[in-house]
Amino acid sequence: MLEYVIIGGAQAGLSMAYHLTKLDKKFLIIDSENEIGASWLNRWDSLKLFTPTEYNHLPGLKFKAKKGHYPTKIEVANYFKSYVKKFQIPVQLNTLVTAVTKTEKGFNVAYKNGEILALNVIIATGPFHIPYTPPCHTKISEEIFQMHSNYYKNVNQLQNGDALVVGGGDSGYQILNEISKDASRKVYFSGLTKVNSIPQQFLGKTLWWWFTLVGFLSFNKYSWIGKK
Ligand SMILES: Cc1cc2nc3c(=O)[nH]c(=O)nc-3n(C[C@H](O)[C@H](O)[C@H](O)COP(=O)(O)OP(=O)(O)OC[C@H]3O[C@@H](n4cnc5c(N)ncnc54)[C@H](O)[C@@H]3O)c2cc1C
Repeated sequence: MLEYVIIGGAQAGLSMAYHLTKLDKKFLIIDSENEIGASWLNRWDSLKLFTPTEYNHLPGLKFKAKKGHYPTKIEVANYFKSYVKKFQIPVQLNTLVTAVTKTEKGFNVAYKNGEILALNVIIATGPFHIPYTPPCHTKISEEIFQMHSNYYKNVNQLQNGDALVVGGGDSGYQILNEISKDASRKVYFSGLTKVNSIPQQFLGKTLWWWFTLVGFLSFNKYSWIGKK
C-alpha cells in the first residue's frame, strides 16, 4: 500500500511530486507514455511554447534558458527529465490507468497488467487529450485528406494541393502560420478572423509581465475576476 499515487507525470504531476518529496511522503508517479515529456513531444515538430522561460519554471528548479525565450517542445521534455533526475522522482511508465476504485482503506488503481493500492490518489492527467472533430467531417469526400491537429507533425504529411485549416485556437493559428509558408499551395482558414490579439511585447515588457502586474495570471476563484 503506497501513501500516494500520482497519475500523470507532466507539469502538474511533477510539481505534486516535488511537494510530496519535501514533505517526506512515499509516492509513485504512473504515466501511460513511454517517456517523461511525451505529452509535449507528441505535438507537432515546430511547436514552441507561447509562454516564455520565466513562466515555465516548476517549483524547485528553474527552466534553464534566457528570459523571454520561447522554448521548443524538446526543451520542455528535457526540462521535465532533468526535474525527475534532480529530485529522484519515482516514475512507472507505460502504465495506462483504466480505473480507480475506492476500497475500505484507500484506492485501487487498475491498469492493463496490474493494480496498485494507495491511500491517496492524485489525478494529474491533464486537459486536451481527446481530439474533437466536428461530425460534419463525414460529409467531406474521401479524396480529401483530413487530419486533427493532435496528429499533425509537419507539412509533409499533407497531400499536394490546397489546404484548409479549421479552427482558430492556438493550435489552429500556429499550424496555419506554418502551412502558409509552403508556397506550393493555397491555404484557406475557417474560424474566427476577428480575433483580438495582443502583442507579445509592449513598452519593452512581455505580455506575461503585464498580465502578472495586473493580477491576471493568479487570482482567487472567489474574486471578481476569478468568478468571471
Ligand atoms: C498545442 C498546445 C500548446 C500549448 N502551449 C502552452 C504553452 O506555451 N504554455 C503553457 O503553459 N501551456 C501550454 N499548453 C497547455 C499545456 O500543455 C497544459 O496546460 C499542460 O500540459 C497541463 O499539464 P498537466 O500536467 O496538467 O497535464 P498534461 O501535460 O496533459 O500531462 C498529463 C499526463 O498524464 C498522463 N495520462 C493521461 N491519462 C492517463 C492515464 N489514464 N493513465 C496514466 N497516465 C495518463 C499523460 O500521458 C501525460 O503525461 C499548450 C497546450 C496545447 C494543446
